[in-house]
Amino acid sequence: MNSMSIEFQAEMFNEAFVRTAGIAFLMPYHPTVDEVMEIKTILAEAVVNSIIHGYPDQPEGRIVLRMEVSDEKVVTIIVEDQGKGIEDIDLARQPMYTTRRDLERSGMGMTIMETFSDDFTIESTLHQGTRVTCIKKLGNHE
Ligand code: ATP
Ligand code: MG
Repeated sequence: MNSMSIEFQAEMFNEAFVRTAGIAFLMPYHPTVDEVMEIKTILAEAVVNSIIHGYPDQPEGRIVLRMEVSDEKVVTIIVEDQGKGIEDIDLARQPMYTTRRDLERSGMGMTIMETFSDDFTIESTLHQGTRVTCIKKLGNHE
């Protein structure tokens, strides 16, 4: 088992740093090009969601990325904020559902994260925050 965590400010340009750091952490486990692309996308979608939805008017908000890799190369990615929270999680998970049409969001982030994960869960409490957990098994190609 190996793990890391990064706590960072809810600033849009931190997304590139966190996504890159998350991928760098996995390099010793030799992910495939497809796995890297999928995990990068999961990280980007989750972090951007915490920034723009979790902390819409709180640039000083904090976000934590935690990653674990088991001996069997099962990767757990957790992105957690203490922001606005989600009122209706089932609705938020629907393809093309967004509360930010004004920002030209397409509402596909959750759907994309779910598609690229072997297991995807969201926990959220209004005004307390949101935690998304994505599990992805490396080297699982048929
Ligand atoms: P896109 O991801 O395509 O840019 P989007 O972010 O609106 O658009 P999703 O990522 O699927 O779409 O999220 C759906 C909705 O869930 C968001 O519009 C928002 O209302 C809510 N949501 C997602 N993540 C969070 C979060 N961390 N905190 C609060 N609300 C969230
Ligand atoms: Mg999104």
